[in-house]
Amino acid sequence: MSKKVLVLADVRRQKLRNVTLEMIGAATRIADGGEVGVVILGKDIKALADGLGNYGVDVSYVVDSAELEHYNPSAYRKAFMEAVRDFEPSAILMAHSAVGRDFGPVMAARLGAGQVSDIVDIEGEGDDLRFVRPIYAGKAFTKVRIKQGTTIVTVRPNNLTPAEAGVGKAGTVKELAVSFEQPDLATMVREIVEKANTGVDLTEAKVIVSGGRGVKDASGFEPLKELADLLGAAVGASRGACDAGYCDYSLQIGQTGKVVTPDLYIACGISGAIQHLAGMSSSKVIVAINKDPEAPIFQVADYGIVGDLFEVVPMLTSEFKNV
Ligand code: FAD
Repeated sequence: MSKKVLVLADVRRQKLRNVTLEMIGAATRIADGGEVGVVILGKDIKALADGLGNYGVDVSYVVDSAELEHYNPSAYRKAFMEAVRDFEPSAILMAHSAVGRDFGPVMAARLGAGQVSDIVDIEGEGDDLRFVRPIYAGKAFTKVRIKQGTTIVTVRPNNLTPAEAGVGKAGTVKELAVSFEQPDLATMVREIVEKANTGVDLTEAKVIVSGGRGVKDASGFEPLKELADLLGAAVGASRGACDAGYCDYSLQIGQTGKVVTPDLYIACGISGAIQHLAGMSSSKVIVAINKDPEAPIFQVADYGIVGDLFEVVPMLTSEFKNV
C-alpha cells in the first residue's frame, strides 16, 4: 500500500547536507508510489526548495524564520507540526545528526509515534519493509518492522543511496507562516559559539584520516593533517587522543563521539577499542597503521600496515603526491 513520507531536510549554513538526498531516496522507496514531502526549516532557506521535484519530491514545505536559524526543539516542533497537519504522513525521516537525535523523540512523543533510530539500510518491499540498524556498538544488526501507526526514522548519513535528479516532477512549494511567541517556546537559543572551521565535515567526509594516542602529542597530528589535506579528507581522532589533549573533542569518533561511514578510513596509532569501532566499523574500506601487530584494529581493517605511523604516514603522503 502506498504511503506518505515526510523528510526533515538537514540544513547547515543555508545548504542541504547530502543526507537530505539520501533520505529523499529512502522516502521514495518507503512511499512505494505514494507522496514524498520535504520540510525545510531555517533562516534565508527558501531557495533550497527549488528543483526538489526533479528528485521526486511532491511537496516542499518551507518555514523561513529567524527563530529557526539555529536548532531549537520548541520552535522546530511548532513549525514541523504545521507541515505534519497538512501532509498527514505515515512515516517521517530525519538525519541521525545532533538535531535528529534530539528532535526525533520530541516528535515521536508529540505524535505518539514509534521510532527507529540510526538506520543504515532498508530491506524488503511494499508493506514488508525492515529497517536495519546496528546494535551492541556495531557488533550486530537488528531488522525492525513497524506494523502500525506513524513511524519516525532517523537515518545515519552516508549509507543509503541518494535520490538522483531527472525524475521531472513539478513539485509544489508551500511556504508556511508560523508565529513564534515566547510562551510557546520552552527553550531559547541565546548565543551560538562557533568553532573555527576545521575543514571537511567529519560526518559527511568520503575519506577520514584519524589519529589515536599513538600520535604522542598535538604536533603528532601534523603529518595526518598533511595527508588529509592532500586527499581532501577530514581529520578524526580516538577518544584516547582527545582525552590526552592532543586534539579537540569535536574530532572524536566512536560510541560517545561521532558515527562516520566514509569510503576510506585511515586509522593511525589507534588500538581499535570496541567503543572506537562503534563509530567507524561500517566504513567501506579501513586501513590501519599500528606498530603493534596484535592491535585489535587489524581485525576490522581491510588493509593493515604494521609500522611506525611517523614513518608510514609521510611515506603515504609522498606517494599520493606522485599520483
Ligand atoms: P590506545 O588504546 O592507547 O592505543 C594506541 C595505539 O597506538 C596502540 O595500539 C599502539 O600500538 C599504537 N601506537 C603507539 N605508537 C605508535 C606509532 N608510533 N605508530 C603506530 N602505532 C602506534 N574511544 C573512542 O575512540 N571513541 C569513543 O567514542 C569512546 N567512547 C567510550 C565510551 C566509554 C563508556 C568508555 C568506557 C570508553 C570509550 N572510549 C572511546 C575509549 C576506548 O575504550 C579506548 O580507551 C580508546 O579508544 C583508546 O584510544 P587509542 O586507541 O587512541 O589509544
